[in-house]
Amino acid sequence: MTRNDELFDRARNVIPGGVNSPVRAFGSVGGTPLFLQSARGAYVTDADGREYVDLVASWGPALIGHTHPQVVDAVKAAAEKGLSFGAPTEGEVQLAGVIADRVQAAGLSPVEEVRLVSTGTEATMTAIRLARGVTGRDLLVKFDGNYHGHSDGLLAAAGSGVATLALPGTAGVPAGVAAETLVVPYGDLEAVREVIAAYGDRIAAIIVEGAPANMGVVEPPYGFNADLAEMAHGAGALLILDEVLTGFRVHRAGAWGLQVENGPAYEPDIITFGKVVGGGMPLAALGGKRAIMEHLAPTGPVYQAGTLSGNPLSVAAGLATLELATDEVYAHINAAADTVTSALTSALAAEGVVHAIPRVGSLFGLAFFDRAPANYEIAKMQEAHRYPPFFHAMLAGGVNLPPSVYEAWFLTAAHDDEALGRIVDVLPAAAKAAAS
Ligand code: PLP
Repeated sequence: MTRNDELFDRARNVIPGGVNSPVRAFGSVGGTPLFLQSARGAYVTDADGREYVDLVASWGPALIGHTHPQVVDAVKAAAEKGLSFGAPTEGEVQLAGVIADRVQAAGLSPVEEVRLVSTGTEATMTAIRLARGVTGRDLLVKFDGNYHGHSDGLLAAAGSGVATLALPGTAGVPAGVAAETLVVPYGDLEAVREVIAAYGDRIAAIIVEGAPANMGVVEPPYGFNADLAEMAHGAGALLILDEVLTGFRVHRAGAWGLQVENGPAYEPDIITFGKVVGGGMPLAALGGKRAIMEHLAPTGPVYQAGTLSGNPLSVAAGLATLELATDEVYAHINAAADTVTSALTSALAAEGVVHAIPRVGSLFGLAFFDRAPANYEIAKMQEAHRYPPFFHAMLAGGVNLPPSVYEAWFLTAAHDDEALGRIVDVLPAAAKAAAS
């Protein structure tokens, strides 16, 4: 019995399913999850002392690599001064300023004010309450297969872990709450038009991932988010752009930055951030124009609060991470993605495995389908049974992939030639396993 097995047995006795977030349980790939004891650069080490090249990156935050010395030093220095104050700090002001400064492109500055929270779930939940408070309306439009965290109204046909476990929504969400959400197929402007025609004056907001990455990666149709902004605004509703996963990862100004630099300009009303913005510590944020953000308490009537909001250690990690996230970092990660995706497609093609590698910036996924799935219905049609053997062959070869075919692969600035070479070397065996 390995130490991972031993820990998993113990964990299942004291933690539901042995994990603190469902996808970690390896439910869709089978086997024992790795219990990690450390992570550095592009590598993680499990409880048995085995090292893996990591393509999970803590599900996104580790943009500059795990445990970067500058980030660790910043967190240590902050810890020496106080773990939590429950009072405003200078660091929060700096971080809000950095976020607002970075999220600018094509002459647009959609983020003037920022509220810091602790998780992506809290950020989207607050964004929705804010949109309802601003518009005085109740309904929310979301896209099937887009994941926005686990608050009640957003677990109507959600992707990510919910997709992995193949649950139709989840138990525990009141029918009345779910009924406030309208779920439409991703990429389907006609469906959005229909929903607006039917409920237009009751819709508070449309929420959409900057680029979907929780039903596998899906490249948004050209100008899709700009069209949504126009349709939302035409109906007197807001557009909430969820950049919890894509923010500061696919571009220095997120998916929004990438899109307005390469397509029609648009301004979301509220943007949510998470993952990279906290550099691996619990921190997330929502931002928007002053006129909208000031509806939040204490300036406005929309209540929102948090004992640990703007935690000084998280803020220090976020500031250090964003300082390190230079244009060179994005160029490096893009080039690393070129290397991995071309080796991946060669290996799978050599084995005759039908596949697609949808990609947005440096973010990509693998779909066992003859084309990049355009929405969740299509993503579910793929030959998903090929992923568990592929995944386990990669793991056996020392590469840690996300344990679900519906998750993105995350590269970091620390993936150097050696780490990339190790991934490339293992791919042929994994492709063979997928073919069988
Ligand atoms: N929004 C998106 C797009 C996400 O990918 C996630 C998490 O994966 C969330 C929101 C929820 O963030 P958290 O897990 O920090 O609550």
